[in-house]
Amino acid sequence: QARDPEQKEFLQAVEEVLLSLKPVLAKHPEYCAVLERMCEPERQIMFRVPWLDDAGNIRVNRGYRVQFSSAIGPYKGGLRFHPTVSLSVIKFLGFEQCFKNALTTLPMGGGKGGTDFDPKGKSDNEVMRFCQSFMTELHRHIGSTTDVPAGDIGVGGREIGFLYGQYKRLQNEFTGVLTGKAMEWGGSNIRPEATGYGAVYFGLEILQDKGEDIKGKRCFISGSGNVAQYAAEKLIQLGAVVLTLSDSTGYVYEEDGFTMEQLKQVMEIKNVKRASLKEYSSPTGVYVAGQRCWNVDDKAHIALPCATQNEIEYEDAVKLVNKGVAMVLEGANMPSTNDAIAHFHKCGVVLAAAKACNAGGVAVSGLEMAQNACMSTWSSEQVDERLKVIMHDIFAASSGASKEYGVTLQEGANIAGFEKIAKAMIAQGCV
Ligand code: NDP
Repeated sequence: QARDPEQKEFLQAVEEVLLSLKPVLAKHPEYCAVLERMCEPERQIMFRVPWLDDAGNIRVNRGYRVQFSSAIGPYKGGLRFHPTVSLSVIKFLGFEQCFKNALTTLPMGGGKGGTDFDPKGKSDNEVMRFCQSFMTELHRHIGSTTDVPAGDIGVGGREIGFLYGQYKRLQNEFTGVLTGKAMEWGGSNIRPEATGYGAVYFGLEILQDKGEDIKGKRCFISGSGNVAQYAAEKLIQLGAVVLTLSDSTGYVYEEDGFTMEQLKQVMEIKNVKRASLKEYSSPTGVYVAGQRCWNVDDKAHIALPCATQNEIEYEDAVKLVNKGVAMVLEGANMPSTNDAIAHFHKCGVVLAAAKACNAGGVAVSGLEMAQNACMSTWSSEQVDERLKVIMHDIFAASSGASKEYGVTLQEGANIAGFEKIAKAMIAQGCV
């Protein structure tokens, strides 16, 4: 706190982990010094990104790459393009990524990057010129065994393509330096679906443990981007009822649940037209402007925040509990404030923490790296099967730690991730 008092998102993420680790530090005081090092990134890079807009003006944004921890593998984590990006946001994401990657069972360290550039309203050519300029600086810091970025908010297939093209040109090599690539040039089956599907698979593990079925369960989903779309798709396939989807302008409510056709319409609006949910139209659907979907006048069993950080504040948590929500599957990173988490725990809501619940995306990115390294492509069925096994293993590790230390599932996930990194750091000495 003394070092970076103004980095509120980063401090929030650290506080959440520290609160969970109290029983571990009491049992293993030798971990205290490790934790202090773990909170300081190994390396932070900030750089200027100049680019030319369509009118011929030179514009400038700020780029970031925070290489947080290489204790258990190369730095790995996405790039976020959004006007709210700051060093604090990238550090919170990078810090969380370390624990998440440790939980995946794969050898990946943690990192995160991005920029305050806003792709919204920019032409394809502007986005391409921006990505090329961003990579012109970033390329000297990354590599297929050093640091492997991927997508995040504002970075989808189009941006990964432009970034990869520029990397290849500068390095003169075709390697798996980015994940989230298209199938024709080194991507993995199921990578676009992996985060949303993985969050639902994690929910299935929780329900199975309680002897419950997902069929007929009513769900609120926030967001309508990559994670939300595929969480919704998997839920609909499994017979659950998806009541809401949202974006930064408002939310859509379907009282009988979205059909696959209606979800396709949302995908078309967000992925092809790159427009707002205002454009959604169905005889049964209602669009509500300027509000979070947690305000919808309905009841549900499961909430899936899949948009952004701090989208469930204390007041939202109270509303969700009053609407009957008994399980929260965090698709987004740090979507719940620490007060909201405390309220969920107080009311007995099962909280599937982002580090565990949304780890399916980076896990399949790890599988994409493995396929690139051995110059092969695995089928959708193979990757989906690996994803299910990984989500099962993450649940087993999180619930195992929660039982061992007598804490919640959310705290158990933090503990399981932390112990793996701590052991590696102690073995590697003072680094
Ligand atoms: P996308 O850019 O595809 O979609 C983001 C969605 O969230 C959009 O609907 C967007 O609305 C909405 N949103 C973004 N910022 C805000 C905001 N400040 N207020 C309200 N709504 C907002 O991103 P992803 O789906 O990839 O990522 C969503 C979350 O999941 C993020 O927290 C990300 O870090 C996390 N995540 C993503 C992974 C992945 O594989 N993609 C992996 C693990 C975590 P609009 O379209 O109007 O901007």
